[in-house]
Amino acid sequence: MGGLMFFWIVEGIIPITRFDYKKRSHALPNLFFTLTTAIVNFAFAYLIVKGSDAAVASGWGILNWIDLPLWMEVLLGMMLLDLLGAYLIHWTEHKVHWMWKFHIIHHSDEHVDASSALRHHPGESLFRAVFTLMAVLVTGAPMGLVMLYQSSSAVLSQFNHSNISLPRWVDISIGLFIVTPRMHRVHHHESLPYTDANYGNIFPFWDRIFRTYEEKESEDIIYGLDVYDKRESHLGDLLGLPFDGKRYRKET
Ligand SMILES: [Zn+2]
Repeated sequence: MGGLMFFWIVEGIIPITRFDYKKRSHALPNLFFTLTTAIVNFAFAYLIVKGSDAAVASGWGILNWIDLPLWMEVLLGMMLLDLLGAYLIHWTEHKVHWMWKFHIIHHSDEHVDASSALRHHPGESLFRAVFTLMAVLVTGAPMGLVMLYQSSSAVLSQFNHSNISLPRWVDISIGLFIVTPRMHRVHHHESLPYTDANYGNIFPFWDRIFRTYEEKESEDIIYGLDVYDKRESHLGDLLGLPFDGKRYRKET
C-alpha cells in the first residue's frame, strides 16, 4: 500500500502520458483485483512458510546445497525467485491459451499506471502463488529472503507499471539493475511482437538472456490489446472472461 501511494503521487506530478481519465474510478477495478490477489497470497502464505521452513530444516534446495557469502546468497536467491516465480509463470501465461485468458485481465487496462501492477484475475493470482511456492521449494529460500523477494516484487511491479516520466539517463542507469517503466510499458503495447516481450518483473536481464527483449518509444505505445476491444469492462465481464469459451488469438 505504501508503494502504491508513493508511485500514485509521483505519477500525478511527472506523468509520461497525460491520460484523459478519472484516476480514481480507473483505480477501482484494479484495487478490487489487488485485494483478491492479497487474499490468494495470504492463503498461500501458510504453505510458503511451511515449505521454506521444511526446505531449510532438511537442507533441501539450491541455496542450501551451495556455500556462499550471505550477500551472494541473497542476490542469487532473489534472482532465482524472480526467474521461477515471476518470469517463467508470466511467459507461460502468454504461451498457454487457457492461462492467457486469465492474464488478459491484466493487459486489458488501457491506462496503465501504478494501480495496474496487481490487476490480476484471482485465477492468475493462484498460478503465480503456485509458481512462487515451487520457486521457494526449488531454491530452499529461507523465509526472510522470501519476504524480501515478495515485498520487493510488489513495490517494483508498482514502479514499473507507474505512469512516470524519468529522464532517459536515469532510466538507462537504473535499467541495468531493475526493470523500469520504459521497459515494461512495451509489454503493454496492444499488439505483437511487443505484447510477448519484456516479461521481466524485478531483474531486466532474463529478457535479454532468453531473447524476449523489445524496445519501443513510450510515445508510440498504445495500451490495451488488439484482440480484446471491450472499452468499458465491468468486473463481472473480467471475472468471467476466462470461461467465455472464446479464443483470443494474438496476431502479429
Ligand atoms: Zn503480460
